[in-house]
Amino acid sequence: MTRVFVALGANLGDPLAQIRAAQSALTSLAEPGTLHHSPLYQSRPMGPQDQPPYINGVSSFDCRLAPHRLLDALQDIELAYGRERKDERWGPRTLDLDILLYGDLVLTDERLTLPHYGMKSREFVLYPLADLAPDLVLPCGTALSQLLVTCPANGMTRLPGQ
Ligand code: ATP
Ligand code: CA
Ligand code: CA
Ligand code: CA
Repeated sequence: MTRVFVALGANLGDPLAQIRAAQSALTSLAEPGTLHHSPLYQSRPMGPQDQPPYINGVSSFDCRLAPHRLLDALQDIELAYGRERKDERWGPRTLDLDILLYGDLVLTDERLTLPHYGMKSREFVLYPLADLAPDLVLPCGTALSQLLVTCPANGMTRLPGQ
């Protein structure tokens, strides 16, 4: 059993509803009693700016699926909530589920890079991750708290009631 962290993002349709639906869909992948959700944030899009703001969060759970099976399951959830594959990099989407961390596993192949290659520099990932696991240390030995110092929470607002 491995503790995993998954990043959730959405900026088309009803982003908050899709994030909520994805959070509950993760229940089927998590060992009972292990699923936790960060507060949610509204944040600026990465890349093309001609798209709506994002709703972002991070969830953690203990998982029995092998890494690629977890990716399969997350992509099934993306598709179930209307994700369409587009050519534009970082373009708008109804739901994006990325595996940030799969325990301490370090892996790179044609489908999967762990830890997620962008997590160290993305404020919309680091802050909700820190809400869940403030003392986290990445497999490379870098403390999450150290990454926050170099990555200000610019353009992020915590959603009310979180
Ligand atoms: P970014 O990866 O920069 O956040 P994105 O999420 O918009 O961009 P996608 O189009 O959702 O990119 O994913 C492209 C591919 O990334 C996926 O098909 C998947 O095979 C691959 N990938 C590699 N590492 C991971 C990971 N850790 N989590 C999710 N997908 C990953
Ligand atoms: Ca565009
Ligand atoms: Ca992503
Ligand atoms: Ca993705």
